[in-house]
Amino acid sequence: MRYDKQGAKKANTTRIVKKANSYLVVETIKNYEYVTMESIISNTGLSRPTVLKILKELTEKQLVKKAGFAESDVGRAPVLYALNTEAYVAIGVDIDGPPVYLAVSDLSGKVLVSSKFELAIDSTIEVIQDTIELYIKKALTELNINRDKVLGIGLGLPASVDINSNCALNVSRLQALSNAPIAKYLEEKLNIPVLVRNDAHLIGIAEKKRLENTEELLCVVHRTGIGLAIIMENKSYEGSTGNSGFIGHMTIDCQGRACACGFKGCLEALASKRAIKEIYCERTGKRLGYRQVLKLAEENDKVAVEICEEAGYYLGIGIANVVKTLDIHNIVISDIRCNERHVFFKSIKKSLREHTDTFFKKTVKLYVGGLQESELALGGCNFVIDNFFVSPKLILKA
Ligand SMILES: [Zn+2]
Repeated sequence: MRYDKQGAKKANTTRIVKKANSYLVVETIKNYEYVTMESIISNTGLSRPTVLKILKELTEKQLVKKAGFAESDVGRAPVLYALNTEAYVAIGVDIDGPPVYLAVSDLSGKVLVSSKFELAIDSTIEVIQDTIELYIKKALTELNINRDKVLGIGLGLPASVDINSNCALNVSRLQALSNAPIAKYLEEKLNIPVLVRNDAHLIGIAEKKRLENTEELLCVVHRTGIGLAIIMENKSYEGSTGNSGFIGHMTIDCQGRACACGFKGCLEALASKRAIKEIYCERTGKRLGYRQVLKLAEENDKVAVEICEEAGYYLGIGIANVVKTLDIHNIVISDIRCNERHVFFKSIKKSLREHTDTFFKKTVKLYVGGLQESELALGGCNFVIDNFFVSPKLILKA
């Protein structure tokens, strides 16, 4: 490999190198919580004047604060630096469609305020945009926070998205959002940057943050539809357009129930919250919510138990297909709204193991995710914060 000094010099402008150095300093402070300048120097390998300059800038921007003194046996006690977690906030908006979840978090990822509101499936784009804008303004007023203290909005959409153009492509449950420039609209109205992502990817990021020592994880998001976040080497794998893990429309049964997408037997037509509600109604004539059906299953209602077992069987097959594709054996199911003793969860686990045990020596591990309803939009906040502190790409010419 040849290092092209001229080319690299041109590509790595002073601004990028400065940002990369600053990123190293922030990462060290984040990792240690409280850290002295000496530790930053030894951890980053940067020179003392560089670290001093960066710390001065970060302190002026209020991203970093002085947080007391470290203990010292000799001489003056060194200053401890910490991330100023209260200085800025991030907003997450998670559209499940119709329910929408909103959260505002500080830089440590702590939820400061959250809300939930409904959008009718046939809402116009104007109604969708104005409602989201209204709830964001409401949350910021409640917290008494100025817009310039908001790093950004992470907007999760139940759709195929195009992360390159920051847009939703096809939103089956809120058709008006399809190809609509919602990010641009909110950016112009609120003067806050907006990042559009698949809803399951953002939820996966939030679930991952709760698990220590988990470099690889599949996060199945069980909601009105079914999505998947793939975490590999500690990072969410987005795919080239932002649609990796689009398992809701994975065909499980070619002759199965019709799906809203026009095909038959998609995973979400057989096992999503919406499917469970609809199948219960088809078999009993009664219109109940997903949680009501789960509750009936807990009370041993024959039809409800049967439906949970069937849905769990299909979901287990869907997850097993992903395990076979990616060889990742750590799986969390988020937003499922039942515990691990429930017949639905037990059925998913049984089917998943039946469809994987023959092929792998490693037994799959399946858990219920830790996010509460008020934290479903937290992934959007986490994503914005992670992107704010993102390491710029240094270019080395081959
Ligand atoms: Zn489908």
